[in-house]
Amino acid sequence: MHKFHIVVYGCQMNVHDSRRISDTMLEAGFVRTYEATAADILIFYTCNIREKAAHKVFSDIGLLKTKRTRIIAVGGCVAQAEQSGIFKNRDVNIVFGPHVYHKLPEYIKSIANGETDRILDVATEQSTKFNCLPVRKNVSCSEFVTIQEGCDNFCTYCVVPHTRGREFSRPALDVIREVKELVASGAKEITLVGQNVNSYHGEAPYITVGHPRGTWRLERLIMEIADLDGVRRLRYVTSHPRDFTRELMETHAKVPVLAPFVHIPVQSGNNRILKIMNRGHNVSEYLDKLKMFLDICPGVQFSSDFIVGFPTEMDSEFGDTLKLVDEVKYTTSYSFKYSRRRGTPADRMHGQVPEETKEVRLATLQQILLRDQIAHNNSLVGKINEVLFEKRGRYSNQYIGKNAYMQSVVVESQENLVGIFANVLIESASTNSVSGKIV
Ligand code: SF4
Repeated sequence: MHKFHIVVYGCQMNVHDSRRISDTMLEAGFVRTYEATAADILIFYTCNIREKAAHKVFSDIGLLKTKRTRIIAVGGCVAQAEQSGIFKNRDVNIVFGPHVYHKLPEYIKSIANGETDRILDVATEQSTKFNCLPVRKNVSCSEFVTIQEGCDNFCTYCVVPHTRGREFSRPALDVIREVKELVASGAKEITLVGQNVNSYHGEAPYITVGHPRGTWRLERLIMEIADLDGVRRLRYVTSHPRDFTRELMETHAKVPVLAPFVHIPVQSGNNRILKIMNRGHNVSEYLDKLKMFLDICPGVQFSSDFIVGFPTEMDSEFGDTLKLVDEVKYTTSYSFKYSRRRGTPADRMHGQVPEETKEVRLATLQQILLRDQIAHNNSLVGKINEVLFEKRGRYSNQYIGKNAYMQSVVVESQENLVGIFANVLIESASTNSVSGKIV
């Protein structure tokens, strides 16, 4: 019994975690398969951002389980939130939270050896995991590095502080070491990941000559990483508007490898809604920061997240979100209908907005966001973009990469471009990508 298959749901943090789970399993001698039917072990790494997330996982277990399946493990945020409730599905053997995935091989071996038939581990200690993970395998040209986990903001709709725990920043030198390993193995673009990445405050006690001691904020960490040989492009995600400092904006102006594209979620364009969301900023503070950013760094582009139909949101308040979108003109954005999360304050609020109203508002917002996205893509036509090619396209000789603004760029080439930075003259644009030729 040695083949495992991973099903991952949700955000980039989860995708990154699932890669680390895979590394840990491979290190322990298991073999990965991309076919659920060929697997003895099914691992479901879950996300709790949608309503009925546990229900969806249970239904997928039913769909993917075969006669060959021997062990089923459910991990991630739903596991942390539901805990032993996941065992309601009697096929599940292991329930593990996001802070203990490094122990999964050990738990699987215990079950396989017949020592027990069920294991629940939803410990909340955040630092241990990072010290136990193996050196990364199958490194690609663009890699993620977790620098921070958890959140202290307690937005009233969000489960992250309850599932991922309070804010924890990895020590700065651990991050630097991981980036060096990745670059030595071929990574050229590094994305620093955290639920609230710009509140990073990692300890940096053992620094070589010439480096200051103490705690590094994100700005400092970026400058140090940018200095490492082989780091060609650097990004970070996800930021909170309140933690966006002038120093961080100035770092963009000073560090050429730092992409001029920043995800700064606003969620709503109305002050009353932002207040009851407990976002810790209002509309003018948010817009002032974007303006300051553009003054310091002309040409920087923004993306955002939006929630429509938050409890008690009126049409006129939703209209304020549309006004804000019209003013900022985001390059890309993610927008969702508010969905209730058990245990959060927003779930208990009166004035839940009817589903049909949310749907109409979402469609209206997405139409405007799409308009701006297309306008941005069109604005690239005739320009030269530096692109990191990550994969082959659907057709032979077609390659797909990302420019600094995270837009997909498609070219044709006789040469294998995967893992290569190249300059592309953009010749045409569509809704989700642009195309061009290497120059
Ligand atoms: S800042 Fe983000 S992660 Fe933290 S509580 Fe708010 S929405 Fe959740």
